[in-house]
Amino acid sequence: MGNKPSRIICRMCNQEMVTRIETNASLKTHLFALLLCGLGCWCCVCIPYFIDSCKKTNHYCTTCGAYIGFYN
Ligand SMILES: [Zn+2]
Repeated sequence: MGNKPSRIICRMCNQEMVTRIETNASLKTHLFALLLCGLGCWCCVCIPYFIDSCKKTNHYCTTCGAYIGFYN
């Protein structure tokens, strides 16, 4: 699994499907923002919140809606 929808077999319903993803700000996102803050890049502080690779990606089953896992 990566930060893009992936084709896997759901453990709950045993159906092969492409996962539905949701991205959330994670600890990594806040650390990036803090780092930019520390470097004096005040205007760049919000950038990590717009970059998907700085965020946590949650994967859900499109068939039954079960939570599959996350990619950080
Ligand atoms: Zn499922």
